[in-house]
Amino acid sequence: MAKPKLSTVFLGGCFGCHMSLLDIDERIIELVDIVEIYKSPLVDRKVFEERSDIGLIEGGCVTEENVEVLLALRDHCDFLISVGECAIMGDIPSLRNTIPLRECIEEAYLNTVSTWNPTHNIPNDPELPLLLNRVHPCHDIVKIDAAIPGCPPRSDALWEALQALLHNKPVQLPYEILKYD
Ligand code: SF4
Repeated sequence: MAKPKLSTVFLGGCFGCHMSLLDIDERIIELVDIVEIYKSPLVDRKVFEERSDIGLIEGGCVTEENVEVLLALRDHCDFLISVGECAIMGDIPSLRNTIPLRECIEEAYLNTVSTWNPTHNIPNDPELPLLLNRVHPCHDIVKIDAAIPGCPPRSDALWEALQALLHNKPVQLPYEILKYD
C-alpha cells in the first residue's frame, strides 16, 4: 500500500522550523518508514504531480512568490498546518507592517549607516521576488487546518503531531512540549 505523502514549504521564514523538524534526529528514519516526503526543500521534486495528505508551512507570505507557493500547497494538500509563529502570525518579518514598504526599502538600500550604494539604485530586477505591501500570516491567504506554535516549535511537538495524524488519531500535544516564545 502506498505511504501517505507529506509536503513542506519554506515561505518567509528563517528555515528554523525545518531545522526543528530535522531535530527529530534518528526518528526521521521512523518517519520515512511511514510517510513519503513528497515535495519539500528536503527533497528535490519541483512540481506537484500528486496530492499530499499533510502539508507543513514554514513562514508567512512576504513576497508574491510566497503566495503562489502557498496556493499551490493548499490546492495539493488535504490537511494544512501552519508551523511556527511566522506562518501563524507573520512574526519577525511582519514587524515591517507598521512602516510603508517604500520606507523599508529606502532604509535598507539607501539610508542605513552601513549602506554603500554609490549609484543610489534600488534593486529592481524582474527576477527578484516582488515584495508584498505587507506580510501576511498564512490564514490570510488560504484555509489553514491546524497550527503548531513556537519559534520554532519543538521537534517533539512536530513529531507528536505527525505521528497522531499519520495514525488517524486526534492531535493532543502536552503543554510541556508546546513553546510560545
Ligand atoms: S517561526 Fe521562528 S524559527 Fe520558524 S521560521 Fe519563523 S523565525 Fe524562524
